Amino acid sequence: MANVVHIVGAGLAGLAAAVRLVKAGITVVLHEAANHAGGRCRTYHDPALDMAIDNGNHLVLSGNRATMDFVATIGARDRLHGPSTASFPMIDMATNERWTIRINDGRFPRWIFDPAARVPGTSALQYLTLARLLWAKGHRTIGEVIACQGPVYERLLDPLLRAALNTEPREASVGLASAVLRETVVAGGRECHPLIARDGLASAFVDPALTFVQSHGGHIRLGHRLRTCIFDEGRVRALDFGEDTVALGPGECVVIAVPPPVAADLLPRLDVPTEFRAIVNAHYRFVSNKSLPPMMGAINGTLEWLFVFPDRLAVTISAANHLLEVERETLARKIWQEVARMIESTAPLPPWQIVRERRATFAALPAQNARRPHAATAWRNVLLAGDWTATGLPATIEGAIRSGNLAAELVLPGVRS
Ligand SMILES: Cc1cc2nc3c(=O)[nH]c(=O)nc-3n(C[C@H](O)[C@H](O)[C@H](O)COP(=O)(O)OP(=O)(O)OC[C@H]3O[C@@H](n4cnc5c(N)ncnc54)[C@H](O)[C@@H]3O)c2cc1C
Repeated sequence: MANVVHIVGAGLAGLAAAVRLVKAGITVVLHEAANHAGGRCRTYHDPALDMAIDNGNHLVLSGNRATMDFVATIGARDRLHGPSTASFPMIDMATNERWTIRINDGRFPRWIFDPAARVPGTSALQYLTLARLLWAKGHRTIGEVIACQGPVYERLLDPLLRAALNTEPREASVGLASAVLRETVVAGGRECHPLIARDGLASAFVDPALTFVQSHGGHIRLGHRLRTCIFDEGRVRALDFGEDTVALGPGECVVIAVPPPVAADLLPRLDVPTEFRAIVNAHYRFVSNKSLPPMMGAINGTLEWLFVFPDRLAVTISAANHLLEVERETLARKIWQEVARMIESTAPLPPWQIVRERRATFAALPAQNARRPHAATAWRNVLLAGDWTATGLPATIEGAIRSGNLAAELVLPGVRS
């Protein structure tokens, strides 16, 4: 096969690269170690709940332009659901106070001048904190730039940035925080409509992408783990999968779209992030008899965000390393108590599942951010992709897809020539 691009890893970064390349008429072979694609973004049948659930709730925003373009290309835009406004109902678990942040469409932030739309107990002036984050030097921590206290921080910035960065915000990179704010809150409500894959991540992001790749002549090899790269004169000459070896002819390249420790094993002298943070998700088989918003946020509790699906409720807790050793049932009960308060229900604990992703994302610390490599490598025919590469964004679907798109763009001229 001439001009083949091998993509190793069928997470969203690898899938995005594959979609971009097959769309440009390039032959792609996608090699995935697991028996399913999707990586950290996957749907599976859970025996405890006897239903299909996602490993974790994944929220994207209407302004995630690469993500929107990706789902439109693969014909799955209608699989993302959400309100037509940027409304975020919140509750303070300590006081039971409730409010809704309503970010107006358009760039001028009318919402911060409107007591019914902004965080209660704040004045418009207090939102200048956001400007300080935007203008700060990127290598500092948020805690070095702003006082991490007061209602704007506690009721808006902490929950938003904790979710986006998956890291305790005060120790997180201000550069990454600023990138998130610029593309969301600062860009206006139209960019912040929350979108959820109501029928599962696989149906929105993974299965349609695989279909797209295959229908455009791409090949998918599941259960095909890359063991070693064989190097020769500044390029990779062959990919060793154990049971078989694939030679890379002239003009053939490889996009390595695997998690950072695997990439560091495959490619010598590659700097990668080395610290990670967990995300804990609690899923409950429960159908509410009243209408609930699709997502709600909480402060001062264990749970942070509640997502409402047609057949279940699912909770996300970010930067959750402190919950890794808590006994599962204790955690399920504790979180359910908070969910029940949030939705004003007296229902007993329903069937539940706790999913703990220990290495959900790299830690968005300045020092870790500095370890993220560019897509181009020291080897002529090797590109990197993944949410952990130097995208300028934290580890998110948007970052993963942009990284895959970039790798594809860098590959294209060489493959075509
Ligand atoms: C619980 C949880 C909740 C999250 N919530 C959100 C959210 O709300 N919003 C958001 O935007 N992002 C969220 N994220 C982050 C998002 O899931 C990731 O940023 C994205 O899925 C990363 O995609 P990726 O392709 O970079 O990496 P991965 O998904 O890790 O893909 C890497 C792939 O490489 C494969 N692989 C590994 N080694 C080999 C090998 N040797 N050979 C072949 N294949 C190999 C793996 O099996 C995997 O499929 C969340 C993540 C988790 C875990």
